[in-house]
Amino acid sequence: MRISLVAANWKMNGNRTFAERFFTDLELESVSADVVVCPPFPYLSLAARAAEEKGSFAVGGQNLSHELDGAFTGEVSAHMLLDCNVRYVIVGHSERRSFYHETSELVAKKFVAAQAVNLIPILCVGETLQERDQGHTLEVVASQLQAVKAVIEEDAWKRSVVAYEPVWAIGTGKTASPEEAQSVHKFIRTQLGDVGSKVQILYGGSVKSANASALFAQADIDGALVGGASLDAREFAGICRAAV
Ligand code: PEP
Repeated sequence: MRISLVAANWKMNGNRTFAERFFTDLELESVSADVVVCPPFPYLSLAARAAEEKGSFAVGGQNLSHELDGAFTGEVSAHMLLDCNVRYVIVGHSERRSFYHETSELVAKKFVAAQAVNLIPILCVGETLQERDQGHTLEVVASQLQAVKAVIEEDAWKRSVVAYEPVWAIGTGKTASPEEAQSVHKFIRTQLGDVGSKVQILYGGSVKSANASALFAQADIDGALVGGASLDAREFAGICRAAV
């Protein structure tokens, strides 16, 4: 049995007051899923303190460097995240792939850097609208996974999370139908090999409390990576409650 996981990705939103209010308002008492909150770097320590006090969620980073340390101005290493009591880190989000030109090979190095210090990478994969319209969804997802497979042992997937995030569904209000998402999730699981059945595979793309239950009812959808709707503590908690 896989435990469900719901992760909040605040992206570059919020400030100190927002973060303090969010954690005060976050009510996860009746939630059985694992919950992760990924704030911007400056609020990681604040989030980690709230996580320790509440004991109901873990903290994640939104990005990390593939380098371990050194002269890399502006970068944040896996060790630094660990030092801030971070347990998860998002790698390969489509906004990093498109705005910052992160290749699948660089994303794979970040995945390895995270695991080297026992952080759990949340690897994002997904196709653009054009790729989808041309019927290339599975090919794109397979090649994004392949870049990671090329540099890890199969067993390493067990210490990771995969998020299927169709790019056309991120921040657009459009979601893949539960059936469409399920078929890609099933495909991803087969691509992970023998350990596939043990890996949490999340769906991401305009998930809200109103559409979460139908998505989570699918056999291979183990939770969600949530952007916009994670900026409202009550709405986010509603999504967490839908994950059983
Ligand atoms: C995301 O950025 O990972 C995401 C899924 O965003 P949204 O929920 O806003 O579509």
